[in-house]
Amino acid sequence: MVDDIANPSDEHSMLREMLRDFVINEVEPQALEHDRDEKFNRALFDQMGELGLLGLTVPPEYGGAGMDATAAVIVHEELSTSDPGFALAYLAHSMLFVNNLAYNGNEEQKARILPKVCTGEWIGAMAMSEPDVGTDVLGLSTTAHQREDGSWVINGRKMWITNGAIDDEGTPADVVWVYAKTGEENGRVRMSTFLVEAGMPGYSVGQKIYDKTGMRASNTAELVFDDCIVPAENLIGIEGQSLLHMMQNLEIERLTLAAMALGISRRSLTEMNRYATERSAFGKEIRDFGQIQRYIGESWAKYRAMRAYIYDTAAQMKLGQAGHRLDSDGIKLFSTTAAKEIADAAMQVMGGYGYVAEYVVERLWRDSKLLEIGGGTLESHQKNITKDLGKDPDAINR
Ligand SMILES: Cc1cc2nc3c(=O)[nH]c(=O)nc-3n(C[C@H](O)[C@H](O)[C@H](O)COP(=O)(O)OP(=O)(O)OC[C@H]3O[C@@H](n4cnc5c(N)ncnc54)[C@H](O)[C@@H]3O)c2cc1C
Repeated sequence: MVDDIANPSDEHSMLREMLRDFVINEVEPQALEHDRDEKFNRALFDQMGELGLLGLTVPPEYGGAGMDATAAVIVHEELSTSDPGFALAYLAHSMLFVNNLAYNGNEEQKARILPKVCTGEWIGAMAMSEPDVGTDVLGLSTTAHQREDGSWVINGRKMWITNGAIDDEGTPADVVWVYAKTGEENGRVRMSTFLVEAGMPGYSVGQKIYDKTGMRASNTAELVFDDCIVPAENLIGIEGQSLLHMMQNLEIERLTLAAMALGISRRSLTEMNRYATERSAFGKEIRDFGQIQRYIGESWAKYRAMRAYIYDTAAQMKLGQAGHRLDSDGIKLFSTTAAKEIADAAMQVMGGYGYVAEYVVERLWRDSKLLEIGGGTLESHQKNITKDLGKDPDAINR
């Protein structure tokens, strides 16, 4: 019997303790500045490599920590209590690239690349979205054609790619997991995945995207593939069969984005609760006012509900296996909007102070909005859940 669903073993508790120390000593002091300057903190990222966190879910033989989905939630939750923007850069690297490669790459690809991305020597990214296509992922227009010598030529643009650029000088990510169309069969797109590495001809950064509402401590970029030549050995799996691993990786992506919502909620609640005691008006603490109690009480209940649902889903999730779509969509649908509402409640409770950066919740409020869009919009989760319950109505009664 597990006492605490969020800390099911000593190993998980120790991981959380380590993260809490790291957040207090290293993450919190830099968060405000990196948000303001729209800068990704490479040195902090390298420190995570030293702590063994960049290859969190990678088997130890490839330089990883070999941990599970619950551990992934713990790391994203703790980082997001302080710096969701940095947490997003971590997610794009460790979940969207590293975890994906660990479960879907072949032996040669894993042996060659995983040690580099587990230490932080290389920064990874995942490129699915395009300027004209997001939710409608099968409508992608990036193409890959095989040449006689077996190598591939990729043409197209990818948009909104976290870690796509690693600095303001247009330096591209060291390695990108790129989805491209390799043909059509019976009216269906054949989608394939390629590892594109810095220095390969035709791969460059189109632009780093500035002035984002939130998540400003992570770099977001447009990537260009202009007759980009990729060797045959950089194809992942079998040509035309990427949909399965794409769907599988979306599940861990949604779980960890929901974990970020949990971290934002926890910090927002902490801040509003403390402030409600410190601040007095009309001769009493503001926590004595019924309207303030509504903000705090409702935020607590939402926070506890999302915590239970997220960790329950993590406990069921087997990395490298699809089949958790209903709940990975469910947790993201519920917790991202709840986090935005909780950050908003915190700002309201804190009045004018809540509205300025020094008091943290204004940044969390801005960061929370991305979670309703990235990794699947709210509408896509509603669509998927309704589709899945249509196919499997018994899920409601299990
Ligand atoms: C900061 C940031 C970081 C990101 N990082 C990455 C990354 O690392 N890699 C990557 O590949 N992508 C990334 N993205 C892209 C992100 O995943 C997409 O923005 C998202 O999937 C939505 O796609 P879109 O923006 O093209 O919107 P669209 O899909 O065009 O949607 C526009 C609107 O139409 C709605 N809509 C679309 N289809 C339907 C439908 N069938 N039913 C009902 N409503 C619908 C949507 O819900 C939305 O409200 C990032 C985005 C941002 C902003």
